[in-house]
Amino acid sequence: MSITIHKFGGASLADAHAIARAVDIAASRGRGAVIVVSALAGVTDALLAGAREAASGDETALRDTADELRARHHAVVASLFRAAKNRRPLAKQIDDAMDELDALAHGLAILRELTPRTSDYVASRGERLSARIVAAALAQAERKSAFVDGTDVIRTNAQFGGASPDLEATDRAARAALLPLLKRGVTPVVPGFIGATPTGEVATIGRGGTDLTATLIGRALRAESVTLWKDVPGLLTADPRVVSDARVIPQLNAREAAELAYYGAKVLHPRALTPLANRSTPLFLRPFAEPEAAGTEISGRRTLTKYPVKAISAVPGQALVTVAGNGMLGVPGIAARTFGALHREGVSVSLITQASSEHSICFTVPAASAERARVSLTDAFADEITRREIDDVEVESDLATLAIVGLGMHGTPGVAARVFSALADGGINIVAIAQGSSELNISAVVSEADLPAAMRRVHGEFQLSRLGGGAALRPEHADVILLGFGQIGRTLARMLGRARQDGPRARVVGIIDRSGYVFDPNGISSRRLATLASEKERGRPLARADGGTSASTTDALAAIARHALSRPIFVDLTADDTGPLLRDALAAGMDVVLANKRPLAGALADARALQEVARAHDRRILHETTVGAGLPIIDTYYKLVEARDRVHRIDGCTSGTLGFLLSEIGRGRRFSETLRRAMEKGYTEPDPRDDLSGMDVARKALILGRLLGFTGEINDIALESLVPESARRLSLKDFLARLEEYDPDWERRAKDARDAGRVLRYVASVTRRRVEVGLQAVAASSPFASLNGTDNQVAFTTMRYQTNPLIITGPGAGPAVTAAGVLNDILGLAAS
Ligand code: ADP
Ligand code: ASP
Ligand code: MG
Repeated sequence: MSITIHKFGGASLADAHAIARAVDIAASRGRGAVIVVSALAGVTDALLAGAREAASGDETALRDTADELRARHHAVVASLFRAAKNRRPLAKQIDDAMDELDALAHGLAILRELTPRTSDYVASRGERLSARIVAAALAQAERKSAFVDGTDVIRTNAQFGGASPDLEATDRAARAALLPLLKRGVTPVVPGFIGATPTGEVATIGRGGTDLTATLIGRALRAESVTLWKDVPGLLTADPRVVSDARVIPQLNAREAAELAYYGAKVLHPRALTPLANRSTPLFLRPFAEPEAAGTEISGRRTLTKYPVKAISAVPGQALVTVAGNGMLGVPGIAARTFGALHREGVSVSLITQASSEHSICFTVPAASAERARVSLTDAFADEITRREIDDVEVESDLATLAIVGLGMHGTPGVAARVFSALADGGINIVAIAQGSSELNISAVVSEADLPAAMRRVHGEFQLSRLGGGAALRPEHADVILLGFGQIGRTLARMLGRARQDGPRARVVGIIDRSGYVFDPNGISSRRLATLASEKERGRPLARADGGTSASTTDALAAIARHALSRPIFVDLTADDTGPLLRDALAAGMDVVLANKRPLAGALADARALQEVARAHDRRILHETTVGAGLPIIDTYYKLVEARDRVHRIDGCTSGTLGFLLSEIGRGRRFSETLRRAMEKGYTEPDPRDDLSGMDVARKALILGRLLGFTGEINDIALESLVPESARRLSLKDFLARLEEYDPDWERRAKDARDAGRVLRYVASVTRRRVEVGLQAVAASSPFASLNGTDNQVAFTTMRYQTNPLIITGPGAGPAVTAAGVLNDILGLAAS
């Protein structure tokens, strides 16, 4: 019988839909398959965080976690199992596990201590529950299956929190527990991440350890292959969340893979390859969304040898410690004492360099242990420091290590030089560098803020996006995530569904509203987009849509960002204060398109922080529709600036609502009647005073002002409200009932203007120094005078367009033109 091991990670077990898919794959594997599973996505994090908070005295935190996880697991079970008799035993196991957690919360809060042993015990339930669910789902799919606990299969030492497996003992235990089942045609389902200590207690084997469980079992059973089913197409040339044109590597040598895993490629546990060393069992990483795809093979073979570099990975959160001094030269034992001191403190060192002048030793440690390292070294060298033989122990933080890996660099000259110049061209400073004598890895330490740019530069320098023959493994498209599914969002979703197939392609993968989200990493079909839109129109929130998940917007974004997306674009179509969320999106590697004015028209510091995050992550923010809906106003501004023109001022009528109102009043119509008509036509906000107050125009003016360098806040804008003082505190109903009272006033204003040969317009005037918005009586010869209906108009006065300003006119409001403007921004990003 040929035995194969299949591991499904948390990312592949995100929700009922994903679990059903994993079960399909597992069920189609035939005899001899062993299934190993992680906890559902995010569960381990939640359990550990809850336990830590309980131990710091907050027992409700762990109780809340228990409630949440209980609900989440029950929901998964409810959607996977139709028959109540299948649901009942699982429901009881979920309740038991969570009741116990509830009870533990109190104990932890009293003891105020979380030992690694207890922490492991808490965390183990994530995997145990998911394995039970998967085993039952296999049974429902008519496969004989059995849950086999990790403690019956994996044997470890007693180092709780990160136990090391005992290979020989595990070989014996795994064979005894699993072979009899396999012989009877039963598929064992084993929770990953956990094993039994010599005294039989449960211990975890390190974060991400389910990969290791799978290879341990593969080794014990001499499996034909071990497959890790992933949410990415395989092991990629770089983390796809940072480098969007990362490619699948068809085959990697085990040494290359180990190096990548050790230096941060989260897709594989750093120790997962150890059990398979000197075995012929290959390890595959394959996409669970596309079970036929080949993915990545990790084995003893060497391929793609003409590529000196195959992949890059990175470890953020590092600090560089330097021990330096003139007295170190030729003194034996300094290095030994340095690392001895760190060893006693339990600080793990990753990258080490020593200049041959022996003037200094530098090494990186995780930022969290930097202070301990410094203290232990100043202690160890106290005498040398007093004698000035060693200057001091210095710590530099906020760094990251970038690892550039490939067996082909051995004997290829100039690889390091290419890394240096790629980084130098990007203005990125290299803080330290190391090359192993194996010539398999070059590591560079750079500032953490430079890391994404550094990764993209090195990836580009070695043309890794062409690895494997140059074929793009995914179609060239951008993945769009919509935040807000109101009128504009729905119009846009329909437009994107119909977008033409030539030119840049963009497809919707996620939609988020206040209730939750809908997500499909393979793209939501245009049929499904249309259904979602019409259901939402009828008042059904996304959380309750078919395939919808309820979540806060922050959690929804985090869940979506966990997946490898192709050039993701996050589109904000809300009118909320979304600044922090947008920063998360940028930090997760997404470009941003805004129709929402608030993030740019709030506090200057917030608007700047947003641009700052975009810069740090090398992402772009486009926001054409925040000023003139579909009109190319911001685009024109940038074109002028690019052409070295200088914009002195921008004047504009940028409110379709007020434009309509004032041009009708100018024709002699009554204010009350016109406003009612505008409301009927949907030109106004639900409360028309929001338009009349001028606030919307002020926000647009502030955004334009900030382009020109205006450093003020919204309150620094001179603003004239068209809502009479007496009407500001009325209820909407009362205000509407009394509209006629304001007619005489408006009639007089219109007449005065007419008598002077002028017309009334609500105008924004913007310079670098001053921004004002208010009612103006403009000359009949002014371009603003000829504006009609809801049209907008903006005039640029520049160095070159001084006497005769550059004018842009056109429809400036309404869901269709706004959605078209947003679509234009999206396609612009997709094309670049
Ligand atoms: P699982 O839950 O299956 O164990 P993980 O979340 O641990 O999966 O790892 C998968 C994630 O690793 C991917 O979604 C991807 O974002 C990230 N990743 C980082 N580096 C790489 C890389 N070089 N190739 C593929 N994925 C990578
Ligand atoms: N659930 C564990 C973790 O999140 C183990 C794993 O996923 O492999 O670290
Ligand atoms: Mg993992």
